[in-house]
Amino acid sequence: MKRGIVVLLALVLGTSTLAFSAAQEASQKKKPESKATAGQKATQKVKDPVCGMEIDTKEAAGKSTYKGKTYYFCALSEKEQFEKDPAKYVK
Ligand SMILES: [Zn+2]
Repeated sequence: MKRGIVVLLALVLGTSTLAFSAAQEASQKKKPESKATAGQKATQKVKDPVCGMEIDTKEAAGKSTYKGKTYYFCALSEKEQFEKDPAKYVK
């Protein structure tokens, strides 16, 4: 009986290790791909209306649309700040 449990444990451990390495492999494969697509898409620099910093639209922590225009923020707290009173930041 005990041996059966050990075999079962080894099987479970073996499977989870396999699953883990497969997941690791997948994430390693994904990284260069996302870099390649990042190179294809033109990066767009925009000005964060709250702090005035130049940020990449893809690196923005949040975005908000006001009067048909999309604004990007380096921090979510700034997005919230902007949404409370957009007119304060948009001329
Ligand atoms: Zn900012």
